Amino acid sequence: MGGKGVVVVGGPCAVESLDQTRTIAEHVKRAGGQLFRGGAYKPRTSPYSFQGLGEPALQILARVREEFDLPIVTEAIDDESLKLVEQYADCIQIGARNMQNFALLKSAGRMRTPVLLKRGMSATLEELLLSAEYIMSEGNYKVILCERGVRTFADHTRNTLDLSVVPAIKRISHLPIVVDPSHGTGKRNKVLPMSRAAIAVGADGVLIEVHHKPEEALSDGPQAILPETFAQLVREVDAIAQVLGRTLQPALAAS
Ligand code: PEP
Ligand code: MN
Repeated sequence: MGGKGVVVVGGPCAVESLDQTRTIAEHVKRAGGQLFRGGAYKPRTSPYSFQGLGEPALQILARVREEFDLPIVTEAIDDESLKLVEQYADCIQIGARNMQNFALLKSAGRMRTPVLLKRGMSATLEELLLSAEYIMSEGNYKVILCERGVRTFADHTRNTLDLSVVPAIKRISHLPIVVDPSHGTGKRNKVLPMSRAAIAVGADGVLIEVHHKPEEALSDGPQAILPETFAQLVREVDAIAQVLGRTLQPALAAS
């Protein structure tokens, strides 16, 4: 990732059941999504919200990977989940809330699986890059950065998606950066336009939450797009990438 290729990562916020996950994975694959993402461990603002299914969700993801030939991205929230996630995932996500969990970053740095590192909700570019250094300083150089919106006074969106960080990072770092307009906006109708913009501004990919029944989703339903919108998003991202001399490429392939 990070060369001419552009990737689209799709999937539900959380793995809720085998059925739900298979249905969404089938849509993601058919639309041309290259990686599948679903949470087994969910860092939720409230302790009373759905926390994820844990290891059974990882087993569901492993099954879906075999069935649809989709590499898996899933989040680790602590050392215990990291050990399990490493056994199942093709890419380990470290979420915004853990961007400065230095012990966790170091543990992920001792692994050989690529790490998707999300920007903290009030982290500067420098802080994000230094967190990436924590992973790389332990020997794991396969770090992918992710812009997922930062906290501002604006309240028309959940977060403010800081697309200007993409060219800023490109100027000073070789690391690939993907954009997550789902958490970045928190609103379904903003995900497609901000995905177009993310690719136009030079991102190496987008990370999108998809659900076939968003009103029933156990987390982040309001920002989940429907499978048909996801298919449109992949087509449009591909078209915009081509204008820039880039193409959708197999996930995690050297490019
Ligand atoms: C997520 O990816 O579902 C998530 C919780 O994201 P973030 O860490 O960016 O809030
Ligand atoms: Mn989510």
